Amino acid sequence: MDTETLLTPNALAKPARRLPSLRSQLSLVLGGLSLAILTLVGGYLGSVATDEIYIAQQAAVRATAQSAAELLATQLRDREREIELLSVAPYLVNGPLDSALVRGTLERRQALHDEFAWLGVAAPDGTVLQASGGMLMGRSVAQRDWFIAAREHVYVGDVHEAKLLATMLPALPNGEPTRFIDFAAPIRDAEGRLRGVVGAHAHWRWVTSLVEGVTRRQHPGSGIDALILDRQGRVLYPEALKLAQAAGKAVLPKPVGGRFEGELVFDGKPYLASEATLQARTHADLGWRIVARQPMEQALRPVRDLRRELVLLGLLAAAALTLAALLLARRISRPVEQLARVAQRVQSERRIPDFPEQPGAQELARLSEAMHAMAGSLLATEQALQQTNTTLEAQVQQRTAELEAANAALEHLATRDPLTGLHNRRSLDARLAEAYALDRRYGAVSGRVHGLLLIDADHFKHINDKFGHPVGDAVLRLLAEVLQASVRVTDVVARFGGEEFAVLLPELAGAQDAVMAAEKIRTAVEAAFFPEVGRLTVSIGVSLASPGDEDLRPLVARADAALYEAKRGGRNAVVLKTADAPT
Ligand code: GH3
Ligand code: MG
Ligand code: MG
Repeated sequence: MDTETLLTPNALAKPARRLPSLRSQLSLVLGGLSLAILTLVGGYLGSVATDEIYIAQQAAVRATAQSAAELLATQLRDREREIELLSVAPYLVNGPLDSALVRGTLERRQALHDEFAWLGVAAPDGTVLQASGGMLMGRSVAQRDWFIAAREHVYVGDVHEAKLLATMLPALPNGEPTRFIDFAAPIRDAEGRLRGVVGAHAHWRWVTSLVEGVTRRQHPGSGIDALILDRQGRVLYPEALKLAQAAGKAVLPKPVGGRFEGELVFDGKPYLASEATLQARTHADLGWRIVARQPMEQALRPVRDLRRELVLLGLLAAAALTLAALLLARRISRPVEQLARVAQRVQSERRIPDFPEQPGAQELARLSEAMHAMAGSLLATEQALQQTNTTLEAQVQQRTAELEAANAALEHLATRDPLTGLHNRRSLDARLAEAYALDRRYGAVSGRVHGLLLIDADHFKHINDKFGHPVGDAVLRLLAEVLQASVRVTDVVARFGGEEFAVLLPELAGAQDAVMAAEKIRTAVEAAFFPEVGRLTVSIGVSLASPGDEDLRPLVARADAALYEAKRGGRNAVVLKTADAPT
């Protein structure tokens, strides 16, 4: 078993680098969540506040229109009452209309109310009898609207440009034409007969300054201004708009029946506007309307300011929350990262390193403990396995060596002669068969053949008889050594049986080589000294393999025949027997 697999990472596991880190995921989720909540809450608060502010702005514009209308109605009524009271004063009802008393009264009224540019009394035929500042005295106002109307009833007239008086009064500083609105009332005697008409021209500027005062006082710096429109929707005030309208340059909203309120476009610019009609308190209804308006851009400025503040606050809060999210993510992920590092060290160092002491959460503490325990048990298992492995390897080595030794012993037993240690007959036969097969295959090409020597100790029976069998055995062992020492390492020396030996000589150039090898053996034995026994000789039969041989037997038979001849010839001799020679 491969112990490495125990503590090496699973080969199937995907590399962790590709995945986003826990820390970044946590930061992203927490940061995103807080941003989303902030956006929702901020958006909701913003829209609620926007509505509220819009309503408040509208209320301010409406209040301006209503205040201006109210003030104007009251002021016009007061001036009308003034003239009406004057018309029933006893000195006008009973006294002469051209008296100094009348003149003084008119002067005092004018001094009291500087909005009056002119006060005068005219006779029923239209001749001015008495006037403030003595202006227009003796001139006729018979064709003037106010005079005509006031012969019948109390009169308040629409604004008009000064005609007769225009040249007599100082010009207005802004170059505007002098404009008046007229108040007039009939003077009747006790019987109700018309005695004359009292009339007054009030400066139009007085009217406009009343309206201006309201807008200025109520909402300074708010951009709110007020328009005065007449019954037909013509602009009476302000002057610039009046001129633009007259020149067809200003497009004004069409008059709406009754009141209107909301967004209106003046000359392409959006306004928040509110209309109020003058509640008629005078005898005649002028039909004026006051339109208060505020440029939308200015009306919505608080909304924009609020939104900017909300966005700023939101960004600050988002930054704070993101920071908190980052810190939280770090707090959560750091112990996990530490544990991962510890696990890596367990793997690389094969020992248990220090585990983080403060995992920061119960679950992480349990995970840390579990990892500690697991690493311990894994390392212990690994060590045990390694131990087993080593033992097993040693055992296998030992068994293999034993087996090899046994095999070698068996091989030795099977192929060796126990007394001399030389090849036995069986092994010799196998070698002879090999040599026979090789000669068959390559002999014709190489021109080489193998030869066989059969060696027999001379008069060996006599040694046994004289010195005993064990001495005979020792002689045989020594003889084997001499034989082995006399041949080449490629030659195969074997015990053929009893006191007979054989030598296989491979790859001989010819019969001469074999005879020479045999002679070398014979002389070596002859020269050797055998303890106790002394000298010993051998007879050697030599034969060479022949292409005509059907198997091994002819070769052995020829060597045997040669040996027999050597014995018969007197022993201690070498005899060669080739296939050609007659047996
Ligand atoms: P020669 O071959 O010269 O004709 O005479 P010889 O005495 O050697 O002939 P023989 O074949 O009659 O005798 C062989 C003797 O070798 C007989 C036997 O006792 C002896 N011998 C055979 N094998 C062994 C052996 O393993 N050990 C001992 N000590 N003697 C053996
Ligand atoms: Mg023999
Ligand atoms: Mg013999």
